[in-house]
Amino acid sequence: MPWNRPLIIGMILLLLALGWLRTNSGETELVRSSRLLMGTIVEIVVSGQNTGQLEAAVDDAFAEMARLDRLLSRHYQDSDVTRVSQGSKGGKVAPETAEVVALGLDVARRSNGAFDMTLGRLKTLWGIDQENPVVPTQEAIAEALEGVGFRALSLEGLNLVKQSPQLMVDLGGIAKGYIVDRAVVVLKNHGITSGAVNAGGDMYLLGQHPEHPWRIGIQHPREQGGILATVQVRDKAVVTSGDYERFFEQDGQRYHHIFDPETGSPARGCQSVTVITDSVALGDALATALFVLGPQKGLELLADYPGSEGLIVAADGTLHPSQGWADYQSAP
Ligand code: ADP
Ligand code: MG
Repeated sequence: MPWNRPLIIGMILLLLALGWLRTNSGETELVRSSRLLMGTIVEIVVSGQNTGQLEAAVDDAFAEMARLDRLLSRHYQDSDVTRVSQGSKGGKVAPETAEVVALGLDVARRSNGAFDMTLGRLKTLWGIDQENPVVPTQEAIAEALEGVGFRALSLEGLNLVKQSPQLMVDLGGIAKGYIVDRAVVVLKNHGITSGAVNAGGDMYLLGQHPEHPWRIGIQHPREQGGILATVQVRDKAVVTSGDYERFFEQDGQRYHHIFDPETGSPARGCQSVTVITDSVALGDALATALFVLGPQKGLELLADYPGSEGLIVAADGTLHPSQGWADYQSAP
């Protein structure tokens, strides 16, 4: 097997503490549904009094996710991302695309380029999620990095501007999070006040019940099915990026899908990064950025984002929590 566990769900929803089975006002219904979207299994769980309302909300949330994936994914010929990548100077994009790119550019700047949405050609070169990936030559890596870098992409209104024609945009480090946020908006618009959306480790936990917060088990990066830590949250995004999700091994080395833009090779500082913050898009981008920066610089960057906490597992397996992480941590 060139690579393992292609569709690992990075976190496990623990529904034990939900208190959803009964409320004072009568029977509470639970609707749970999963679909294959954005190359991963997306799971939505919602609770409320009216099954019809819950099901309609979940259907609409999935439809919104599919619509946004068609704008933001490299895998569609007519997506915004593909069109901009093919255009020599970039091109006009939908407001949603501009919104996610604007957030990504801000994280890119604040992380000094650790987060970088211009690595499309590098990603294709490594082909981590292809059939038979191999480590590329240094020449090929250097070639894929030519004309790219976080400063080579900018936004002017709805125009995504590229500094070099060969720059290929890749929103893989942020789009999934943004799409989960939008699904949550759809759920809220349907009047849903309690639920969760999990896209392979990019999660939002929507909860109104103060006595029964969500409990989330964070996947252990080296023990299959093992839980690294358990956190309790409500109305928060919990996002994990790990080197165990998509990778291959060659000569005893693990090659995964989060690249250090400076070297053009997989970042070496971490095994996994979990970020708890207010939006999944921000959590997604930050988890990727922190993974590239490593524990020390990563926690420094996180401290610049009030209301955000994180837990980093360094390459040597040591745990590096941010200052307020313990407030979320709960007994398993
Ligand atoms: P996932 O949750 O899909 O496993 P992550 O959020 O950890 O992914 O981001 C990994 C993806 O982000 C890669 O597959 C690639 O598309 C993109 N990517 C890789 N390196 C970087 C980087 N340094 N900055 C921004 N995006 C990156
Ligand atoms: Mg990410």
